[in-house]
Amino acid sequence: MVKFVTDIWDTFSTVFKGMGITARYMRKKPVTQQFPEERWALPDRFRGFVHNDVPRCTSCTLCAKACPVDCIYIEMEGKGKDRRMTRFAIDYNKCIWCSLCTEPCPTNCITMSHDYDHSVYLREKLVYEFVGDPVIPFKPKKAAREEEAEA
Ligand code: SF4
Ligand code: SF4
Repeated sequence: MVKFVTDIWDTFSTVFKGMGITARYMRKKPVTQQFPEERWALPDRFRGFVHNDVPRCTSCTLCAKACPVDCIYIEMEGKGKDRRMTRFAIDYNKCIWCSLCTEPCPTNCITMSHDYDHSVYLREKLVYEFVGDPVIPFKPKKAAREEEAEA
């Protein structure tokens, strides 16, 4: 009989305890974010994907030399004033987000962006090309996803 009463008491007390927690949270504002439409404000020094503002790039290769994992690929053709950069790519399979490439840049065109959500299905897609066709990291996110789904 005692056990029966104890069980009844335990049942009701745990239900009320749970309902008390629910009631407490009902008065609070929701914390869920509707990602990717809503995002946290990132701190200024957050290191996201590396971005190169190519028109300001002088092809000096200092960033590639500073990179500890050799994941910046720069190719050029021509000499002197005719020198032209034909490829600037970053292999994010290797990048360690150390930001060392941004330090020696004479024009400050290479920076750590606030972009971080570029998940892909294939490793090859993590080699981002900045010259010529795709500048993947800085396309509008929806367009980049649609393009990847089509590929
Ligand atoms: S952040 Fe570091 S690892 Fe990544 S490209 Fe720059 S120097 Fe290389
Ligand atoms: S250091 Fe700056 S200017 Fe020189 S190649 Fe790298 S991004 Fe371009």
